[in-house]
Amino acid sequence: MSKTKKKPKDPASMRVLFVTPECYPLVKTGGLADVSAALPPALNRAGAEVRLLLPGYPAVLNGLSDLQPVGKPLTDLPGTDRPGSAPATLRIGRTPDGVLAYVLDAPALYDRPGNPYLGPDGKDWPDNAERFAALSWCAAGFAAEDGLDPWWRPDVLHGHDWQTGLIPAYLELRPDRFAGPFRPGTVTTIHNIAYQGLFGAWMMSDLGLPSAAFRIDGVEYYGGVGFLKAGCFYSDRLTTVSPTYAHEIQTAEHGSGLEGLLATRAEALTGILNGVDYDIWDPAIDPHIAARYGAADLGGKDLCKADLQATFGLDRRADAPLAAVVSRLTGHKGLDLVLEAASQWIAWGGQLAVLGNGEPALEAGFRHLATWYPKSVGVRIGYDEALSHRIQAGADLFLVPSRSEPCGLTQMYALKYGTLPLVRRTGGLADTIVDANPAAVNDGSATGFQFVNANVQELTWALRRAAALYRKPERWHAMQQHAMTRDFGWHGPAEEYMELYRAVAPVVVG
Ligand code: ADP
Repeated sequence: MSKTKKKPKDPASMRVLFVTPECYPLVKTGGLADVSAALPPALNRAGAEVRLLLPGYPAVLNGLSDLQPVGKPLTDLPGTDRPGSAPATLRIGRTPDGVLAYVLDAPALYDRPGNPYLGPDGKDWPDNAERFAALSWCAAGFAAEDGLDPWWRPDVLHGHDWQTGLIPAYLELRPDRFAGPFRPGTVTTIHNIAYQGLFGAWMMSDLGLPSAAFRIDGVEYYGGVGFLKAGCFYSDRLTTVSPTYAHEIQTAEHGSGLEGLLATRAEALTGILNGVDYDIWDPAIDPHIAARYGAADLGGKDLCKADLQATFGLDRRADAPLAAVVSRLTGHKGLDLVLEAASQWIAWGGQLAVLGNGEPALEAGFRHLATWYPKSVGVRIGYDEALSHRIQAGADLFLVPSRSEPCGLTQMYALKYGTLPLVRRTGGLADTIVDANPAAVNDGSATGFQFVNANVQELTWALRRAAALYRKPERWHAMQQHAMTRDFGWHGPAEEYMELYRAVAPVVVG
């Protein structure tokens, strides 16, 4: 959809403005924050020059070092014209990881305590549309004739999730405001299609959108303004976080209403897996676990298992297959199936350790399970980073039975810890785990167990296959060792993003 203008010859590298509402450790509500922390440095290592653009939440302004203002105050941002509100300013600083980051310091929009999206009443902030339209407006401003940073013009604007969906819409619909010396390429990444940013049609003019764009081949979505819809419609390229999820979101089952549009844009849509930060997730160097180990010598893993059994009050049986869950406890994670299958697993001699929090019914279900089987089931309700490492190291089997899973990280961590994942074949789970069917076990390619349909019979059958293989220690160890050598680091994904950037960046002439 780009009307590419030629860019003057510039031997410098690919300049990417990485626009994201979250970045660990400054602000995090989900996996996007981890991606925003890990991918930009990986892209920089791959030869890009990436700068972040973040909303000016207090935690972001306080967490960046060497903050300096850039250019003049911004006067025309959506939502900043309230009486008495302080002017908005663009600033630049460095993240704790040393990445350069612009921050949109707009107190009227972001100077609030707590969760970035929810007020103290647990409801969405009423001005979320303006808050994230402003972020997108600011990103588009980098492309304008009077670019927001005259010393740095991006070749690519890369936005993440609905919060940045209006970036390509502004470039396309507001040439009066955003046309510049060359038009940057645009990429929108969908981390979870369930969150779409749908707002009232009456907001069109407040958001700086021309009313003519309120149509099906525009920003209109189910009678309102759809931010993610706009991103999907106007971006040059779309990505999501695994190849299988890229196919799934083109179907009614997983597309959450966007499947039709995405199917028409199938050629622009790519699935690129998220990566793992092996500086944090590696049993050879992990400071949280009882003993360190690697693929060549798994001895330390036995100690980690004993430690985990002690922590959860389980029978100290080295020969009991110990399955684990570390997860948000929500319906789409499929953990109700684990509750149903648990008694059968225990009857086969298995144990279960669960760490998670979320929906009250699931929390209560796991608590009850632990009281029924105190020596076989241990449950911690809560969020505990260190314990999650100890579980990865101490378990034999890692359960991820998700109904939908855009990418999933825990199954990739489990591989590195020699804890064989048992997953439902969906999204990134399908792409990262090779099922232990007889052929894959024989040729040594198996790394875990898959089941296809989200029902308790299929989960139980997969658990049964896992229990049977566990009783063949040589085969189990061979699979563990193969799993531990799989490489899901950020290097490969970063190269794939670079290829995409090269495809959309303005052409160099001269
Ligand atoms: P999602 O983003 O859908 O929650 P992912 O598998 O992509 O699922 O990422 C979840 C991340 O959150 C992983 O790093 C996992 O270890 C962590 N996590 C989830 N629940 C907990 C918990 N209760 N305690 C500690 N870490 C958790």
